[in-house]
Formats: sequence, structure tokens, C-alpha cells
Amino acid sequence: MKKTNYVACEGKSDSTIVREKMLGYSWFQTITLREAQLVGNNTKLLRFDFPKKDQVSGHTVHSVVLLRVAKPGTENSYWPSYVLRPYTPVSEGTTLGYIEFIIKSYENGTASKYLNNLKPGDKVQVWGPVNKYIYEPNKYDSIGLIAGGSAIAPMLQLLRKILNNPEDKTKVSFLYCNSTEEDIILREELDNMAAKRPDQFKVTHIISKPSATWGGESGRITAEMVKKHMPLPNDNSMMLVCGPKGLVKQVVGSRGFIFKGTKGILEE
Ligand SMILES: Cc1cc2nc3c(=O)[nH]c(=O)nc-3n(C[C@H](O)[C@H](O)[C@H](O)COP(=O)(O)OP(=O)(O)OC[C@H]3O[C@@H](n4cnc5c(N)ncnc54)[C@H](O)[C@@H]3O)c2cc1C
Repeated sequence: MKKTNYVACEGKSDSTIVREKMLGYSWFQTITLREAQLVGNNTKLLRFDFPKKDQVSGHTVHSVVLLRVAKPGTENSYWPSYVLRPYTPVSEGTTLGYIEFIIKSYENGTASKYLNNLKPGDKVQVWGPVNKYIYEPNKYDSIGLIAGGSAIAPMLQLLRKILNNPEDKTKVSFLYCNSTEEDIILREELDNMAAKRPDQFKVTHIISKPSATWGGESGRITAEMVKKHMPLPNDNSMMLVCGPKGLVKQVVGSRGFIFKGTKGILEE
């Protein structure tokens, strides 16, 4: 086995334990669903066991992996027809024995529906990781996150990395947009994280169709909300935005091709 397929992930200096990475091999690995939990509207937190109990995934922040599933109707054929879709692990790369994803199921979605219908013991194939950028602790004083719905996955990957590292002092402000209070994915975990580290992490929920009892921010995200809750733009801060096309367009604008693009509220 190649040396690069190991990662040091526990303890410090001479007591560091070197674990075998499950990801990073040249071909697909098989992972087995341990449990699935409904965490939002048509959205599940799926925890998959690695082939070996003492492996870690080894992915860095921010990375995605490709999950490969057989197209419905072709599973039992000699040459199944596969689809590949990128998903964002929300567990850490050093977590022992399992990997977690938050996956939203779409009515006509091939992979998302298949994955959300899996039962404990069912197997899926995974390949990766694919790095989108490498997060460096303490590179920025503050980071602003804006996400909608299941696009919480890349934010949670980063949040867990920062808040689980006592050496990392980066402050994080998170604006999380959802239609209703019930749609907020992992609200308890987010609110607990904020309650435990009030000086480092703040989460603000924006609800577009609030109930009569909702006392927080409501409606569509506005420039005022961004100014109020996000870090000031400067060389020591960074913003990450992820979500449905409409939200991203509203926040960061759109690039023009034939016609002129539009400005987003971050430019205001
Ligand atoms: C870098 C990256 C990371 C991602 N990480 C995650 C993640 O962590 N969790 C997650 O849930 N998804 C994630 N996605 C999206 C994921 O890869 C799939 O695109 C999604 O699950 C739909 O795939 P599907 O095969 O079910 O749908 P497809 O078979 O590709 O689409 C069929 C139909 O499903 C519906 N549909 C599909 N996507 C959408 C959508 N976004 N909005 C509304 N309707 C849709 C439409 O009706 C569409 O015609 C990520 C995507 C990228 C690019």
C-alpha cells in the first residue's frame, strides 16, 4: 500500500496514530450504510461504514467525493448503467470508521432518490476525494457563510473542521436561509455549536415563509441582513456562498455573456 494512503490523525508528536485512508485509492471503494436519519424536508443524514473499522476517509476541507449508483432497472443486469454524482462529506477526514453525508432527495432525481431510499446494510461505491480548495486554519480572522437548504453540507464540513480545532481562532458567521423553521437542517447541532462558542461562531436563520411565532429574520436575504450579520469585507475576511441558483444569483450576482450580468447584494 502506498504511503500517501495514510494520515496522522490522533494525538500529538510521538503519540500520533497513523491511520489508513479509505479514500485516495485509484478505484471505487465500497461503503455500507450504517444508519439514516431524516434531518429536514426530504433530506437525510446518511452514515456509511468504511470497509475497515480503523480507517479514516482522509479528505481535507473543502473536498467532495463521487458516489456511484446503478440506474434504477439496471442494478441486476450484467453491465449495470451507473450514474456518478458529487456529494460533500460532512464528517471530518479524521473521523474513525465512517463517513457522513447530508443528501436531499428530488422527486425525479436518479442518485438522490436512490441514496435516500437505502436501508442499513446497503452498499454504495465512492471515489475521491476531489479538493475544491484547501482550508488553512487562522488564514482569515473571520469567515462569512451564506447557504440555503441542503447546501449546508459544505458549510458544515468547514464549521466542524474549525470548531473541533482548539488552535483555530477563525470567527465564523453563518446566514442560513430556509423556507420554514421545519426545513432547517441540523438546527439543534448548529444552535448548540453557537451556544458553546459564542465568541467564535454565530448562526442566524432567515425564514422565507415564517410561522406566526417566528421571531428571527424573515423574507428573502437582503443587503441589510448581510451588513448586520456578516464580517466586514477586508483582506482578513472571506465569504462563502452556496445554495439554490436563485439565492446565489441574488447574493453574488450573475456573469453576463451576451447580455450584461447582474450585481449581487455582496457588491452593495
Ligand atoms: C460540488 C457539488 C457538491 C454537492 N454536494 C451535495 C451534497 O452534499 N448533498 C446533496 O444533496 N447534493 C449535493 N450536490 C448535488 C448532487 O450532486 C446531485 O446533483 C443531486 O443529488 C441531484 O442528483 P440526482 O441524480 O438525484 O438528480 P438528476 O437525475 O441529475 O436530476 C433529475 C431531476 O431531479 C431534479 N433535481 C436535481 N437536482 C435538483 C436541484 N438542485 N434542484 C431542484 N431539482 C433538482 C430535477 O427535476 C431534475 O430534472 C452537490 C453538487 C455539486 C456540484
